[in-house]
Amino acid sequence: MNIKNLFIVPTLILAFTGMVACGNSSKPASQPDETEKAVIKAPAFNADSAYAYVQAQADFGPRVPNTQAHRDCGEYLAKQLEAFGAKVYNQYADLSAWDGTILKARNIIGAYNPDSKKRILLCAHWDSRPYADNDPDEKNHRKHILGVNDGASGVGVLLEIARQLQKQAPQIGIDIIFFDAEDYGIPEFHQGAYKEHTWCLGSQYWARTPHVQGYFARYGILLDMVGGKGATFYYEPYSARTAKSQMKKIWKKAHELGYGNYFPKQEGAEVIDDHVYVNTLGRIPCVDIINYDPTCQTSSFGSYWHTMNDTMENIDRNTLKAVGQTVMDVIYNEK
Ligand SMILES: [Zn+2]
Repeated sequence: MNIKNLFIVPTLILAFTGMVACGNSSKPASQPDETEKAVIKAPAFNADSAYAYVQAQADFGPRVPNTQAHRDCGEYLAKQLEAFGAKVYNQYADLSAWDGTILKARNIIGAYNPDSKKRILLCAHWDSRPYADNDPDEKNHRKHILGVNDGASGVGVLLEIARQLQKQAPQIGIDIIFFDAEDYGIPEFHQGAYKEHTWCLGSQYWARTPHVQGYFARYGILLDMVGGKGATFYYEPYSARTAKSQMKKIWKKAHELGYGNYFPKQEGAEVIDDHVYVNTLGRIPCVDIINYDPTCQTSSFGSYWHTMNDTMENIDRNTLKAVGQTVMDVIYNEK
């Protein structure tokens, strides 16, 4: 994942009120809608369990495409989804990286209630970046990162959600997608011209060639860097433009559950991430829940982003819980 525009001014409050006024002008403001009448309480998301799934991925080492650790972790993830009762699809693809390297990529999809036409898509990337190109030590720039927050955290939260889906099904179908080759984008140290579309190769492939012909979901939720201590998830502007009502619903739920500190209702930085391709190529609106740190000088994703320090020490169960529980309470209330 990469930041799209470094000059975006953060902390603009989104003008959601205008949208509501336009869309619902004929409806009395005091009349609650159907979803507000009966709120369903989702099963409890277990943060210890999610943490263990993050650790399990980290234990493979960096999951950089074309490495043994990557192949082994791919097997582990597919087996876990199967063990949690999902119908599993594996998409193998040879994808061309920015430097011409052919990446042996694997998107892994776990479908719950696959026959339902009412579907929500949950996704995260499972690969780790081959370059620590934001590391303060230049000698590390060509080393593989462990990618614990950047990669494993989102997958860990989704594995725990998969475990819960098997125990108690929501009313709709859910697809969990682990995208590959998200983080192989053109490195900072590259001297030549910038190339577009070098990030998110797995999601680009999936959006052009979905695992089921004619696949559609009402919307998607992408989790990226969702385990850091004291993380904050601001409105990501691309999501706010293309999946506004869904984003609003997720943040509202987070505040109702008491996780408002993690989900400020303010705008952060726009990013290039899998949600962009899910939307542009897959035609499915998708919300990116992604850490944004307005105070950090070296990266708006936190000081350890794309460095050798993206390790387990930064992972906090409380953050995993805030994100995981919020997502669960949103999907269990979909009809
Ligand atoms: Zn990354």
